[in-house]
Amino acid sequence: MHEYGITESLLRIIEDKAKEAGVTRVTTIRVVVGALTGFVPDCIQFYYETMSKNTVAEGATLEFEELPVRLRCRACSHVFVPAEREWYCPACQSPEIDIEGGRELYIKEMEVS
Ligand SMILES: [Zn+2]
Repeated sequence: MHEYGITESLLRIIEDKAKEAGVTRVTTIRVVVGALTGFVPDCIQFYYETMSKNTVAEGATLEFEELPVRLRCRACSHVFVPAEREWYCPACQSPEIDIEGGRELYIKEMEVS
């Protein structure tokens, strides 16, 4: 489980940003999670509820935006979301592909009061 460490890092970022902005209460946090990170939003949520106690983020709602894996074909530059276990280009059938996205993990937005 790496979610514990990730939740810790996210909370640290939230606290730093809140301090920077002079904010004392965060109400909503939007987190972008790519499918390739392997992080399970429910696990982050679980740790978050305990770890956010006595911080500016206590009681804030976590909203997750999950991004799928995106691949780019080396042959024809087509970008696509692969079907499970079918990592080849649907346009030209080439198996020569690069990972274009899906490793994202960042705080997109915070709402404060
Ligand atoms: Zn292609």
